[in-house]
Amino acid sequence: MPAVLIVEDEAAIADTLIYALETENFSVTHVSTAQEGLDHFDSHAPDFAVLDIGLPDFTGFDLCRKIRDFSQVPILFLTARDSEIDQVLGLELGADDYVTKPFSPRTVVARIRAILRRGGSAPSEVSSDLLHHQADTMSITCCGHPLDLTAHEYKLLAILLAQPGRVFTREQLLEQAWDDPGSAMDRTIDAHIKTLRAKLRTHSEDAAETIQTRRGLGYTLVF
Ligand code: CA
Repeated sequence: MPAVLIVEDEAAIADTLIYALETENFSVTHVSTAQEGLDHFDSHAPDFAVLDIGLPDFTGFDLCRKIRDFSQVPILFLTARDSEIDQVLGLELGADDYVTKPFSPRTVVARIRAILRRGGSAPSEVSSDLLHHQADTMSITCCGHPLDLTAHEYKLLAILLAQPGRVFTREQLLEQAWDDPGSAMDRTIDAHIKTLRAKLRTHSEDAAETIQTRRGLGYTLVF
């Protein structure tokens, strides 16, 4: 019985969703604020999270970012306005899907089922297929294909791969991947990340998206 967390402050919307999900044998927890949604993860590991965007304390976008710091739970947004859809699509939030209000609860249930069926956003079994580092041969494969990387690209990706989820600042990446970090600039890292993503994208869009930018902080690799 998949456990679904619903974070939605409008009771009427939450109630129709809860009813539709429970009818389909999902186990549902409903909270009305983003903080309660975040707190839920302290003691539970839901299989799916449905997030409203306009919440009373902080936005569903911020909640999604906070959840993504520690969890790859599949996330579906409930959006109310076109401007919100643009944000869902434009930001690198790591959400899996969205539905626009007003929606049919059955549509939402169908979307949740589809996302769970394809294995959520990033099941860990897939990660080793997606990107695999063979330290002895100093090579990294993407979906089984060896990547043709420069020395710096290789070192950068190996560093990120060694600690998925950890955010590295540009300075940290320079220090670890460059023999002479003083000669390089912060923008050097950005340029190399860009070419790395492009090389990954030729094999798999999912692989390219594992390298995520944390605005104002640096980079992290998330499966
Ligand atoms: Ca709302």
